[in-house]
Amino acid sequence: MTEIPVTRAFAESLDRAAPLTQFRDEFPMASQCLYLDGNSLGLLSRRAEASLLAILDSWRTYGIDGWSTGSYRWFDLSEHLGHMMAPLVGAQPHEVIVTGSTTVNLHQLLATFYRPHGERRKILADALAFPSDIYAISSHLLLHGLSPDEALVQVPSHDGFTLSEDDIIDAMTPDVALVLLPSVLFVSGQLLDIPKLTEAAHERHIIIGFDLAHSVGVLPHALSQWGVDFAFWCTYKYLNGGPGSVAALYVAERHHGIRPGLAGWFSSDKTVQFDMAHQLIPAPDAGAFQIGTPHLLSLAPLIGSLDMYSETTIDIIRAKSVQLTHYLMELATARLKDFNVRVVTPQEEAQRGGHVALAHPEAVRICKALKDRQVIPDYRPPEVIRLAPSPLYTTYTDIWDTVNHIWHIMHEREYAQYPLKREIVS
Ligand SMILES: *Cc1c(COP(=O)(O)O)cnc(C)c1O
Repeated sequence: MTEIPVTRAFAESLDRAAPLTQFRDEFPMASQCLYLDGNSLGLLSRRAEASLLAILDSWRTYGIDGWSTGSYRWFDLSEHLGHMMAPLVGAQPHEVIVTGSTTVNLHQLLATFYRPHGERRKILADALAFPSDIYAISSHLLLHGLSPDEALVQVPSHDGFTLSEDDIIDAMTPDVALVLLPSVLFVSGQLLDIPKLTEAAHERHIIIGFDLAHSVGVLPHALSQWGVDFAFWCTYKYLNGGPGSVAALYVAERHHGIRPGLAGWFSSDKTVQFDMAHQLIPAPDAGAFQIGTPHLLSLAPLIGSLDMYSETTIDIIRAKSVQLTHYLMELATARLKDFNVRVVTPQEEAQRGGHVALAHPEAVRICKALKDRQVIPDYRPPEVIRLAPSPLYTTYTDIWDTVNHIWHIMHEREYAQYPLKREIVS
């Protein structure tokens, strides 16, 4: 790593030359604290607030007619937002639909694509996966009368933080029916090589899907080009859609027309939905993977939030994100190594997502001390502090100040005043 000047003035000079600074004022809270938790819950923007109020207003003004009139017709808003989101994941517009929740979408996709047959019955995942994904996989194995102990294979990690793509590929044996992996690992921030893994799975006739929760909105994807079978993601992290905002999914065009595993009347081809027939004619696009009435009030903030993404490109966002995380890692290495704080996110640009993970045995108490200093990180057991610079609103100076706060907390052993117990929500 190159040496960087460890001065606040240097951070300020980086900010003066940085792209995307026009967006920071859109997020009122960004200047009220040091918010490094945009990978858990992104901040409210003025535009998201305005679009939420606009949908409330259409309800007030039109009542039931809001489904078909107003500036944002509710009936096809999910499709409309899917089209807006498609460039963020490198998909064709009709391959993306905004619907459901992250975990519900995974259930839908497993119900659709997990088809155990003959020898091929196993699902391959990884030992560092987000628990909800593992619970969902286990549900589907059990529904098929299989035991997760036997039919769920989790590729182990050698260091507790990262995975080896070669290990994953080696585990793609002829008894595997489906592979589910994260794009970016939620704890360490490692970015997996999606095209390589997809190609390996397809050579072995295995369906492969990705959980994009920690990559969407912060780095580019080319799902269609890579040939990924399916993907799903939440919209309340880097996409700033608000707590519990409606999630999204992608299904490759070649799978369109198949019957959704979990059908409901919103799976229907929209032109005949109101015929109320009992014979489902699924939508000809990713819309078929919807189930019921869209949650309009939780969709609404996304209109404003995605509008911001239409004013820049995901490549510009990624370039800034890479520089912010690089700066953060260099600064943390330079200033915190004496305190045994380790950067556990991969150093190589191609192997890291949008957040940086610092490991220290006192991580819980350091996070508490940070919060008292108006710095918002998050904690992941057993010993990781996650810091996510959001390219739309985090500055280099925010990063300098954050590392400086950690330096003080370590230098003065301030963390030692805090109880060891973590909070219920961390
Ligand atoms: C945040 C996150 C989820 C969230 O699932 P919800 O259904 O929205 O609660 C799922 N997977 C990963 C990897 C996540 O980081």
